[in-house]
Amino acid sequence: MRQARLWARLVGVENAVVERVVFGEDDGVLVVSVRPARQRRRRCGICRRRAPGYDQGHGRRRWRALDLGRVRVFVEADAPRVCCPRHGIVVAAVPWARHGAGHTYAFDEQVAWLATQCSKTAVTQLMRVSWRTVGAIVARVWADVDGLVDRLAGLRRIGIDEISWKKGHKYLTVVVCHDSGRLVWAGSGRDRATLRAFFAALGPGRSAQITHISADGADWIADVVARHCPAAVVCADAFHVVSWATDALDQVRRQVWNLARHEAGGSKRHVQGPGRATQRAVGAARTLKRCRWALWKNPDTLTEQQTAKLAWIAKTGPIPYRAYLLKEGLRAVFQIAKTNADDAVVALDRWASWARRSRIPAFVALQRRIAAHRTAILATINHRLSNGRIESMNTKIRLITRMAFGFHSADALIALAMLSLGGHRPTLHSK
Ligand SMILES: [Zn+2]
Repeated sequence: MRQARLWARLVGVENAVVERVVFGEDDGVLVVSVRPARQRRRRCGICRRRAPGYDQGHGRRRWRALDLGRVRVFVEADAPRVCCPRHGIVVAAVPWARHGAGHTYAFDEQVAWLATQCSKTAVTQLMRVSWRTVGAIVARVWADVDGLVDRLAGLRRIGIDEISWKKGHKYLTVVVCHDSGRLVWAGSGRDRATLRAFFAALGPGRSAQITHISADGADWIADVVARHCPAAVVCADAFHVVSWATDALDQVRRQVWNLARHEAGGSKRHVQGPGRATQRAVGAARTLKRCRWALWKNPDTLTEQQTAKLAWIAKTGPIPYRAYLLKEGLRAVFQIAKTNADDAVVALDRWASWARRSRIPAFVALQRRIAAHRTAILATINHRLSNGRIESMNTKIRLITRMAFGFHSADALIALAMLSLGGHRPTLHSK
């Protein structure tokens, strides 16, 4: 029957026979009843090997298929169980959907593609599914891709980083390839056990091939790396080192702000409601509080207003301004390293003696921290490990963690990150 074959194409079921098509006028739902083609029947849902039938299971089941125009479509079929010699009694495999999934392959593929291309709202409204469902779909699509590709092949220079998510309550450890710029591995947690799982997946042979590892200087990373890749050169990611200086600067800004606020006229009482009064910074203290971004950002990206704020600090606050110059000085070391490693080493030493004599406790402490990581920082300068790639990967993963906030599990977040940044993005119409 030619019409049956057309229906099979329209709803995206292959290796199946369309038995009946029913359109429900009331609910506006199209139900396409099918049965697997003869050679696809009685197969284990997990391993897809032939297995003897067991029983009829729980009767008919439905799978959501891609909409036809504005009409919602379901594929309906029996869901008998088989008795697999390896997996026991399981629901039989169907050729149009993954085992245990409530959506067809075509539906899964489209959702996964959309999730790596557009916003949460766009995916959920267009596909008429919940964000949690998107998470589950992304996880099973990635599991299939992961089974087909060897993402850890040929790694030489890698970066290891930790990313916080769920507002800092949870962490991911991520591994990035410096050469391809791809995310190659991600695991839930930030501890030795998590990182050991990466090296276990890599295996001793390939671990020995790693020549350079960059990280943020955390002890737990250094320990595991020393154990598994003793010969690799350990580098400090420049953007992490600069972020230490940004943190020190913020400490200085907050201290000065607190002092200004507690001076006479530095704050005034602000009544928010009955029995609720707070002190609000005014005058210089308030301006200083609002300078955070002007101090944080790179000078070439400042807005006009932020430039004015910085000029104000230069005039009125010698200590925060000196702290700002120290932060910029450290950033300059890595800028110089891009063109001349020797000059950068000289600049680093000059910076260290400047910070040591600065009499700003936060920067004296920072100088000590930098001295402790000197070998790794010099390695970064001398081996010219690209900082930009690792930093932009860090930014991209942070965006994904924000997008993945409503996902049920870390697995779904990892799957979305791997599909988006691992070099195996889902494709549409893959056939
Ligand atoms: Zn099986």
